[in-house]
Amino acid sequence: MGKQYETVIGLEVHVELATRTKIFCGCSTAFGGAPNTHTCPVCMGMPGSLPVLNRKVLEYAVLVGLASNCEITRYCKFDRKNYFYPDNPQNYQISQLYLPVCQNGYVEIETEDGSKRVGIHEIHMEEDAGKLIHDTWEDCTLIDYNRSGVPLIEIVSEPDMRNAQEVIAYLEKLRLLISYLGASDCKLQEGSMRADVNLSVREAGTQKLGTRTEMKNLNSFKAITRAIEGEQQRQIDLLEAGEPIVQETRRWDDANDCSYAMRFKEDAQDYRYFPDPDLPPVRISEEWLERMRAALPEFRREKMERFRREYGLPDYDLQIITQSAHLADLFEETTALCKEPKKVSNWLMGEMLRLLREREKDPADIIISPAHLAALILMKDKGEINGAAAKEVFEAMFDEDVDPHSYVEEKGMKVEADTDALREVLGQVVAAHPKSVADYRNGKEKAIGFLVGQTMKVMKGKADPGAVKEMLRELLQKES
Ligand SMILES: [Zn+2]
Repeated sequence: MGKQYETVIGLEVHVELATRTKIFCGCSTAFGGAPNTHTCPVCMGMPGSLPVLNRKVLEYAVLVGLASNCEITRYCKFDRKNYFYPDNPQNYQISQLYLPVCQNGYVEIETEDGSKRVGIHEIHMEEDAGKLIHDTWEDCTLIDYNRSGVPLIEIVSEPDMRNAQEVIAYLEKLRLLISYLGASDCKLQEGSMRADVNLSVREAGTQKLGTRTEMKNLNSFKAITRAIEGEQQRQIDLLEAGEPIVQETRRWDDANDCSYAMRFKEDAQDYRYFPDPDLPPVRISEEWLERMRAALPEFRREKMERFRREYGLPDYDLQIITQSAHLADLFEETTALCKEPKKVSNWLMGEMLRLLREREKDPADIIISPAHLAALILMKDKGEINGAAAKEVFEAMFDEDVDPHSYVEEKGMKVEADTDALREVLGQVVAAHPKSVADYRNGKEKAIGFLVGQTMKVMKGKADPGAVKEMLRELLQKES
């Protein structure tokens, strides 16, 4: 029997904050835009330009700290992290080392093994770097400074996680808290949430931590899981072979399912940190902190409880609807308009989830407005459109938030109610299928289903099957 090993994991998570302007200047943080158009002397690192802290960044950082049970530092400072790289025009990044804004917190995570606390060592505020674009065609590298100075918080966990499931649960918990706060949309694929994994292994039962490596370039939960499993095996193999583990940064190559060394992992002293002389320290008053506490939103657990109480939804619905603040808001605002909580929930759990999966989108991307969804539900209720048409309208709303009334009108999808046209079709169907009519009259209840189907076919779906069935029953009774 070989030795048993334990994996020890800590995470550094960078989150791009949803402010309109950058952390130290008034430039826009909007994604996209022609290269280098959202820039000014401050975020281009021009000598003599002076940074001024964006108050909203501090608010978001403190809110995330409060939501993750952190102590808020009443007197915090910014430091310069010095390194030379072309995406960093100042040759230093403004960050926080000595007095970060939040410290000593935790979040509760749930996995198959139960619930567990993951400690948060600190949260600090910092600026993002620009973007390098390597143009292989022209054999050159281009720089776009639009992202330079976009505000980030870095959330540094304690090394409390032991496997990939715990890491994913921790990231999902952070994403949920932060998106409920509206502080970021936390999309791994688009880089508004980025996770670096610090991992080491040690013999089970020992206390001393092994040498850790850091893995970067992880942009999905799947990549994170595979990277963790690959790296723990690589380290165990080295230990078994009696070879040393080198402290280094490794890049995970998800396409080839392996990692390779990028550089030695730097320690803080390699960056020659020192307090930034351009920025005054931040003092946080009790009064301001109280205002932040009061501004904390209703989080998932409370929202689930309230939705259960007010709308009587089952647990399964509550789990799904509250997985994103945006989905929960859409549910509540739509219900306020149509007064049909269960029907709203059914649309969100059914078609909405199906389309999100199919289009590979995030709940934060949903553009359907509550007014349109409520209108669709009422139209379907009144029998103005049938189920298949309602799904088609919903899909158009999902893609472009179309107005269901005008869409149905335009496409001629309205159900023919009790009209002469429908009565005429019924007469034809009954005349064309004497055998089914006879079967029905002889007590074969199923035969009517066939006649409804035939009618719907002639009507090209523009009839309400329930109403058609009733009309057929009446008709066949009369004629018998
Ligand atoms: Zn700027």
